[in-house]
Amino acid sequence: MAFDLDMIKGVYTRMQERVEVARKVVGRPLTLSEKILYSHLWEGTPSQVFERGKSYVDFAPDRVAMQDATAQMALLQFMQAGRPQVAVPSTVHCDHLIQAEVGAVQDLKNAEDKNKEVYDFLSSVSDKYGLGFWKAGAGIIHQVVLENYAFPGGMMIGTDSHTPNAGGLGMIAIGVGGADASDVMSGLAWELKMPRLIGVKLTGKLSGWTAAKDVILWVAGQLTVKGGTGYVVEYFGEGAESLSATGKGTICNMGAEIGATTSIFAYDAKSAAYLRATDRKDVADAADAVAGYLRADDEVYADPSTYYDQVIELDLSTLEPHVNGPFTPDLAWPLSKFATAVKENGWPEVLSVGLIGSCTNSSYEDVSRAASLAKQAVDKKLKVTSEYTITPGSEQVRYTVERDGFLDTFAQIGGVVLANACGPCIGQWARHGAEKGEKNSIITSFNRNFSKRADGNPNTHSFVASPEIVTALAIAGRLTFDPRVDKLVNTDGVEVMLDEPTGMELPTRGFAVEDAGYQAPAEDGSKVQVLVSPTSDRLQLLEPFAEWEGTDLKGLKLLIKAKGKCTTDHISMAGPWLKYRGHLDNISNNMLIGALNFYNEKTNSVKNQLTNQYAEVPAVQRDYKAHGIGTIVVGDENYGEGSSREHAAMEPRFLGVRAILVKSFARIHETNLKKQGMLALTFSNPGDYDKIQEDDSIDITGLETFTEGVPLTVVLNHNDGTTDTFPVNHTYNAQQIEWFKAGSALNIIRKSVGA
Ligand code: SF4
Repeated sequence: MAFDLDMIKGVYTRMQERVEVARKVVGRPLTLSEKILYSHLWEGTPSQVFERGKSYVDFAPDRVAMQDATAQMALLQFMQAGRPQVAVPSTVHCDHLIQAEVGAVQDLKNAEDKNKEVYDFLSSVSDKYGLGFWKAGAGIIHQVVLENYAFPGGMMIGTDSHTPNAGGLGMIAIGVGGADASDVMSGLAWELKMPRLIGVKLTGKLSGWTAAKDVILWVAGQLTVKGGTGYVVEYFGEGAESLSATGKGTICNMGAEIGATTSIFAYDAKSAAYLRATDRKDVADAADAVAGYLRADDEVYADPSTYYDQVIELDLSTLEPHVNGPFTPDLAWPLSKFATAVKENGWPEVLSVGLIGSCTNSSYEDVSRAASLAKQAVDKKLKVTSEYTITPGSEQVRYTVERDGFLDTFAQIGGVVLANACGPCIGQWARHGAEKGEKNSIITSFNRNFSKRADGNPNTHSFVASPEIVTALAIAGRLTFDPRVDKLVNTDGVEVMLDEPTGMELPTRGFAVEDAGYQAPAEDGSKVQVLVSPTSDRLQLLEPFAEWEGTDLKGLKLLIKAKGKCTTDHISMAGPWLKYRGHLDNISNNMLIGALNFYNEKTNSVKNQLTNQYAEVPAVQRDYKAHGIGTIVVGDENYGEGSSREHAAMEPRFLGVRAILVKSFARIHETNLKKQGMLALTFSNPGDYDKIQEDDSIDITGLETFTEGVPLTVVLNHNDGTTDTFPVNHTYNAQQIEWFKAGSALNIIRKSVGA
């Protein structure tokens, strides 16, 4: 599928040079993460030390991957850059918009009808600009990336939080917002705070009922959902080398559940075997030639606590299977303690549904081990009462496990194969009866189990475990079953036990697929037309934002003075608005509707100075826009915290807000505002927030000499004729000031490519 061998070889050539230099510059041996990060500096050869947890660093990632929900705005923005092609290899994966209801074939057909305009847009834009396009049904982004694109020592960003899955093949792979993806595809640098490092030393070897999933379930219990924030988790040790590449992928995937920036394993024999099995012998050969660079220096492994900020150790030989949950993935229960926990907490003991697969756990190894249990259920005449579903991660896996008879085995215990897509994992599950809100338990081999995530029912107790444990519990039909010690009674009334699962890391007959669902881009995209219906309510082509007019901003109206917490959810709500993610005009109708108005303590109710009436924030803003009047939004501390959602910056820009003035910003949102050509300002004296009055007209001066490090001035023209004047700070550097002047960062690129 067109993995780019020359690109990979180029990365390895640079890596050899740059790691040698980095070792000298940093003055000590390097961890694997540092080797990859220092060899992907935007500036090229390393010349300075970047302090972990402090320094902001510009990187040059090798690849971009996007899923269909987030790709829409990312690509609409990318189109603004005016480039004929993406600057780095990029792919789009249609996986999030397929609803699971009856089974793969019908569900896929329904999705193709319902999402046709979105798929047509993504397909045509990929065709035109040189992106690989993976159609609906081809598979889930992370599994498809692992099978086709991930490579040891590479660096990738992806518009999905489980992008770190590719760390299983030794890649630094990080989840980002659509604006970041758009920047990298447009040829801009990508900024990240130099991460801190957690080293996880794995000793021993898995056996019996324990699987790779149990490693991360255990780690999540140790570190909690916040413990990895700002860190890369680097796994090493002989235990790491004993894990399959896909098992490593599972562990890295679920590193997102501890908040980690990403997780990574070193290149080893298992990685090479997986590359060769997935038709990438050339990549394995290239990696073998630089294998020493694809692992930490020996000194690091010999004395990890000197080189990692934190080290934890786990003996795989003693690790028990785990079940985590309900409602949070870090509530970790060793299986021997789980039954008691179920009883003591009054969690529904009857297991309604067991769901295996997803991007987290749908490798050949996972499926073959789960199938070995399903086969035992048939052979030992066990009647399976829980519902049971299988979500393959890719068409390649689905085709191969069907060929090898595993899907037939699942069918014999009543298993339903869902489409190769996210489905129940992201709430795309038309679960019959969920609307009744009844208390029930489900167990999945997915990664997340937050309340309502799978089926919208807050009373569904969702647990996560390995596919093996999910299958065993589904066979037993209850959560309190421990297959290692408990017996089951079969249809002949005989007591039987399940034997330990068995399986194969890789198919002995090799992987196979008839139609992987991949669409290569056009050789010459210049004639390809991007398909967006002008009447669509889900998609809308973007117009470039206007350049700065070259003068100070005078007579801005106060749109809202937001009080207290104002996250990106308050600025651009999710939920029902998700379907408009590709339509800036329509989604702008949620702008700031969750922000609390300082003056009336209400949400979505602000005074329109033109009418003196209170109305909804987007409606008032649209009225000002219609009258050609700019506005300003005032906010409190840490304005824009939360996700990296670019809509929270694009919506105010689109509707004509000219500046956001706050006590302090969440950094990513501040950067997003700058990229969209907005003024992001902070009070020099936070007390000046109190001077802002509801009927103010506001001037921002000093823009004609807008300079790095020099404050601007705000003049409040109050209704009673008095004024207040005070300085406001900004953090624009010279380049960012150019973004402001040009109207957006993408406008600069467009100019530079002459579009
Ligand atoms: Fe995200 Fe679940 Fe889809 Fe994986 S399967 S990409 S976790 S929604």
